[in-house]
Amino acid sequence: MEPEQNPENIELTTVCPKCKKTVAQNEYNNNLKVCPHCGSCARLTARERIAMTTDSFEELFGGIISANPLEFEGYSEKLARLRASTGLNEAVVTGRAVIKGQPCMLAVMDSNFMMASMGSAVGEKLTRLFEQAVEERLPVVIFTASGGARMHEGTLSLMQMAKVSAAVGLHSDAGLLYITVLCDPTTGGVEASFAMLGDVILAEPGALIGFAGRRVIEGTIGKKLPDDFQSAEFQLQHGFVDAIVARKDLPEKLALIMSLSGGQPAAQDTTDEAESEGGAANE
Ligand SMILES: [Zn+2]
Repeated sequence: MEPEQNPENIELTTVCPKCKKTVAQNEYNNNLKVCPHCGSCARLTARERIAMTTDSFEELFGGIISANPLEFEGYSEKLARLRASTGLNEAVVTGRAVIKGQPCMLAVMDSNFMMASMGSAVGEKLTRLFEQAVEERLPVVIFTASGGARMHEGTLSLMQMAKVSAAVGLHSDAGLLYITVLCDPTTGGVEASFAMLGDVILAEPGALIGFAGRRVIEGTIGKKLPDDFQSAEFQLQHGFVDAIVARKDLPEKLALIMSLSGGQPAAQDTTDEAESEGGAANE
């Protein structure tokens, strides 16, 4: 994407959502939307994530969209509005990708679409992605970010937890690798199902990762929770996350894990072969 032209030649700025400090827009974008002051990772659109992570991407199952099975008032209209404003059909983008030379099936959730809540379309797309991965004997990588189940679809939404988990199981039984990258925020029914089922579970620094919200838990147990409760760092300390990886390092880390578990040999720094095959296309 081209940065906006600015005839006044005044540097465009943005404000970090976490520390509220001002950052030059160009610097922010070049830094993959990581704040240079506090290191917090801004939420990305699925398209931004795919662009910064993959060598190539081919979308699959893009035509699957949610119906309104409960005839929930205003839901169909809301979906239509979001499709128009985000350019997405649903809250997850799924497809076939290559990450630093490693072919895989990739899903990226986008919190701009109803907080990436999981309705039947999200569940169906993920299920088909795992089935396709079994057929092609490929690893699956999912960038999770979600507010949880989509209440507009009631029980049908909750059923997606079991459905996607069963597909994860089939993929696992086939001896294939599944990596999740927990992004801000990964909560509710997504956290409680496929997000936590990865063979390797990575997280972005500072991501909120948890099931129920802080207030609900404090109200239930009648105790104050630690300040860093449900942060990626807290989850790492307590064994729910294998590693926290800086945004700029994620593509290489994912490729390394895939190569170690039977994928393509890890890419060399300077191979003529990779260049001749277009492997350095986005350098
Ligand atoms: Zn900041």
